[in-house]
Amino acid sequence: MSQQQQAPKAAGTQRIKVKTVDVGEVDRFNPSNRIYVRKTDGLWTQLRRRMGWIMMVLFLALPWLRWDDRQAVLFDLGERKFHVFALTIWPQDLILLAFLLMMAAFALFFVTTFLGRVWCGYMCPQSVWTFIFIWFEEKIEGARNKRMKLDKAPWSWDKLWRKTAKHSAWVAVALFTSLTFLSYFNSAPSLYADFFSGNASFSVYFWGTFFAAATYGNAGWMREIMCIHMCPYARFQAVMFDSDTFIVGYDTKRGETRGPRGRKQDHKAMGLGDCIDCNLCVQVCPTGIDIRNGLQYECINCGACIDACDEVMTKMNYSKGLISYTTERNLNGGSSNVARPKLIGYGAAFGAILVAFFYMLVSLSPLQLDVLRDRNSLYRHNSAGQLENVYTLKLINKSEQQQVFDLSLANLEGHQWIGPQQVQMQGGEVVSLPISIAIEPGELKRAVVTVTFTLKNQQTGASVEQESRFFGEL
Ligand code: SF4
Ligand code: SF4
Repeated sequence: MSQQQQAPKAAGTQRIKVKTVDVGEVDRFNPSNRIYVRKTDGLWTQLRRRMGWIMMVLFLALPWLRWDDRQAVLFDLGERKFHVFALTIWPQDLILLAFLLMMAAFALFFVTTFLGRVWCGYMCPQSVWTFIFIWFEEKIEGARNKRMKLDKAPWSWDKLWRKTAKHSAWVAVALFTSLTFLSYFNSAPSLYADFFSGNASFSVYFWGTFFAAATYGNAGWMREIMCIHMCPYARFQAVMFDSDTFIVGYDTKRGETRGPRGRKQDHKAMGLGDCIDCNLCVQVCPTGIDIRNGLQYECINCGACIDACDEVMTKMNYSKGLISYTTERNLNGGSSNVARPKLIGYGAAFGAILVAFFYMLVSLSPLQLDVLRDRNSLYRHNSAGQLENVYTLKLINKSEQQQVFDLSLANLEGHQWIGPQQVQMQGGEVVSLPISIAIEPGELKRAVVTVTFTLKNQQTGASVEQESRFFGEL
């Protein structure tokens, strides 16, 4: 595998050198080049499994939780409302979504600068689902060597049932994943009942099949190809790396010259370093790279090679850590600087957006009032000789309960309200209310008056105001 080195430099900071692999030599799309990941165990593998479990349990359980009389987490696209426990987000509140995305972006920048691609290794759904699919593969087809042998062997009854069982398990997981995902957009119990009784809508069957096929294809077949060739994050993460970013690194000074030796032999006297060249770090790697060649953008920081190598080091009675989470500065004998300007900047931006997000969240009003003036005429004279302006009031009860609201107008002395001034609305109801405001011509002091409409909840006292204008004769 030929490799070239990039050494981009930013003003003030020295970026880490990242190696790119010439994919022309290894065609990852060719099934004969598929990676047979070897099972490993150890501290980082355990941590990764636990993180995967937390992610999975959250993903599976959230659509089944209840809040009041509804699903706790429901993105109701038909009603255009997002329910997240006590919170209901309306289209008018979608600015929150923009802040949420900005927060996620800066959190990713911060974590990547600090800890490299740990998101990919420990929490990215692509990795979590790939490891689940590999787990089924291992249980049904056996360990790495057995799987390689099985794939090369001619078709037999043993091969047929193992392949059938593996793909059936993959399809079941993929379908379950797809239905769970759709449960965030539909009532979970009815979705399952309708789907399996054949009563679901066409769109549910279409998206159910689409997401199941995507899961099966990504986690079963594409795997590292998604991370290497399709994930945009893999492409731009090197921009955030610097010499103090935690990466998975191989201690070349300690490991080289690599080579086999007996456990009891004095390898130093043989001119060898600590690497016994067993290749286990490559066999356990889900992206199939050799970390001893230096940091490569395919590395997802999963730590599997660390666990594999630590096990080898322990068996050889050498100290652990030939491959470890470290920084490039540490590997070069320096000491890492955690508090660097770029990291502090990302952290500060994340903190500021977080505070703004929560401020907006707690300031969300449970009611909304929009005032639309009649566009056809500025004013008119009614049958009583009064000056009259026509408005349409759009009222939204964003709460979940039925409420009674009072409407009023301020800043127009002597006005008469023509239309209902008390409205009863169901939870989540939107009402369009045409009304008129009239005044005796002599009472109007100016041709244009700024007026304030108020919508007030009778029970809670919460209110919102909206300004508009009243037009009269010049
Ligand atoms: S697992 Fe460790 S000892 Fe074995 S080849 Fe990799 S770096 Fe060398
Ligand atoms: S090199 Fe190590 S940390 Fe990186 S992806 Fe491979 S196994 Fe994971």
